[in-house]
Amino acid sequence: MKKHNFSAGPSILPDSVIKQAAAAVLNFDNMDLSLVEVSHRSPQFDAVIKKAQKLVLELAGLEGKGYEVLFLGGGASLQFLMTAYNLLPENGKAGFLDTGTWSKKAIKEADIMGNAVVLASSKDKGYNYIPKNFDIPNDLAYVHVTSNNTIFGTQIKDFPNTSIPLVADMSSDIFSKVLDFSKFDLIYAGAQKNIGASGTTLVIVKKEILDKTGRTIPSMMNYQTHISKDSLFHTPSVFSIYVSMLYMQWVKDLGGVAAMEKINDAKADLLYGEIDNNPNFVGFAAKEDRSPMNVTFTLVDESKKEHFEKLAQEAGIHAFKGHRSVGGYRASIYNAMPIESVQALVNVMKAL
Ligand SMILES: *Cc1c(COP(=O)(O)O)cnc(C)c1O
Repeated sequence: MKKHNFSAGPSILPDSVIKQAAAAVLNFDNMDLSLVEVSHRSPQFDAVIKKAQKLVLELAGLEGKGYEVLFLGGGASLQFLMTAYNLLPENGKAGFLDTGTWSKKAIKEADIMGNAVVLASSKDKGYNYIPKNFDIPNDLAYVHVTSNNTIFGTQIKDFPNTSIPLVADMSSDIFSKVLDFSKFDLIYAGAQKNIGASGTTLVIVKKEILDKTGRTIPSMMNYQTHISKDSLFHTPSVFSIYVSMLYMQWVKDLGGVAAMEKINDAKADLLYGEIDNNPNFVGFAAKEDRSPMNVTFTLVDESKKEHFEKLAQEAGIHAFKGHRSVGGYRASIYNAMPIESVQALVNVMKAL
């Protein structure tokens, strides 16, 4: 039997997506060739990337609204730098909401390109909440937020209302719930959490915010390069893009992001309900900021650790240890996670 995969990333994929991807690795589109040995410029792969781009705009409700969809290399980590390279003038300022490890990394890279200003931070409480009611100065080139904090298990529920371009790292919650995606001018997400396999990063960018910095941007770092070549300026990860296309089609077939949200809420309610009702456990994140994607919790009595982890192992629970910076447990219950697996974890918690 397959394990219940709570890994934070790379993470669980829908079974049907794995099967279709495996079949395409053997014989892609009846070409009698493997997906991973055909040209990225073949008409067959061109159809894949076009379909993936279309699915992104459909799921986000952004069709015909001036957005470009890219599938780039370098992970979300390269986007920390690339967003600043493309949006921040040399002496300019960008504002950041500091909500944890990934935000800090984004701040560090932007500060190389200009001035990264921390608008608010939840560092004072070990990043267990989302700061609210902070001011946004009007001299910023853009504001950057991390929509879901994968390590700490917090999620932004209300995004800042601002006329300044809004940039979001949505790596760990993209297409998990209904959102007004048009609030954002640039969204990026490593595919390996909620929409695919590692090796590609989705970027959704409103074209009108580009070319405003006066900088000379190296070709590979310039969004315009990738827009003008439709993500084929260089050889992209053909396999990863294919998997993302299948994954987004799976979300669409379920009924889109609204249907996905219902499923995700049911899973999160089940697990948080157990954490709140079981005297053996305590949640890490402030209740109002809890992430439905990464559920962080600890044992009240550390002496039960060995027993709990043994029970979990016997039940086939995989990769639910907390990040080393937080400790305890983290159950990542992304889009592809079936509620049966969440129930399996809850059963183990009940049995303790
Ligand atoms: C995992 C993660 C990243 C880093 O992604 P890579 O693709 O490994 O560079 C960045 N931001 C968030 C929110 C993440 O969860």
